[in-house]
Amino acid sequence: MLRTGLSKLEGKVALITGAASGIGKETATKFINNGAKVVLTDIQTDLGHEAARDLGPNASFIHCDVTKEAEISNAVDFAVSKHKHLDIMYNNAGIACHTPPSIVDLDLAVFDRVMAVNVRGVLAGIKHGARVMIPRQKGVILCTASVTGLIGGLAQHTYSVSKSGVIGIMKSAAAELCKHGIRVNCVSPMAIPTPFVIEELRKYYPGVDSERLVQMVHGFSELKGGVCEAVDIANAAVYLASDDAKFVSGHNLVVDGGFTSMKSLSLPTPD
Ligand code: NAD
Repeated sequence: MLRTGLSKLEGKVALITGAASGIGKETATKFINNGAKVVLTDIQTDLGHEAARDLGPNASFIHCDVTKEAEISNAVDFAVSKHKHLDIMYNNAGIACHTPPSIVDLDLAVFDRVMAVNVRGVLAGIKHGARVMIPRQKGVILCTASVTGLIGGLAQHTYSVSKSGVIGIMKSAAAELCKHGIRVNCVSPMAIPTPFVIEELRKYYPGVDSERLVQMVHGFSELKGGVCEAVDIANAAVYLASDDAKFVSGHNLVVDGGFTSMKSLSLPTPD
């Protein structure tokens, strides 16, 4: 695969969960273009193998369902046995499941399912990433949180709560792991029209075609001339994973074009 730009991750080994699609796949591409070897993992086995094939010899794929600790442990061990060590563990896999929107109608079984992937899966990834990084006294752990974990009202309760949890776990783990030379950070994207966002939107707008749904997601952007894309998150992940961020830990890097910093003031019209 042709490398472009500077190789900020030369010689590094990374494992990315949820890497068959969207942000995970885009980040795997950027990591490889920056000189890393990447183990892609996902529950979508065929798509994952296809992504690894497309990315060339520095990519490989292993099936891993993040709700199963043994599979995370196995994926981490696979990365270490293949490449001798693990430098970057990126806990990116996440889901959003539809429930009735009001908290009074909340389906707690759906809540448990979302928490199992988005929170417990991230925690297990940090646990097993740290297991192989602590002996080397270095490493980088990344997680994908979300702007929905920072302010209420942007997504369903289940998803928002899970992403607040990711930010909390990241800080808690960073506090312990800094004494082992391991940096822990997360990236919080705003809405990007990846497959799971489009599938969720389709439940609210059943007759609307995909192109229009993508436009609707891009319409959330407040930054003139810009929309949030998977590549923006991949670039943030490259920064956090690289030595450019060598003193950055316990940080939630929000990539939202200023969205969470602003609230338009609607002035009342004088009588
Ligand atoms: P995506 O659907 O393209 O990718 C998510 C991947 O996670 C899929 O390939 C899916 O198969 C995988 N996955 C789902 N359950 C899994 C499990 N149990 N074990 C392993 N893999 C599993 O969506 P995306 O937008 O690229 O999502 C990546 C991350 O970004 C998620 O954590 C998501 O919550 C987060 N995020 C996305 C947006 C957005 O608007 N797209 C915004 C903020 C945060």
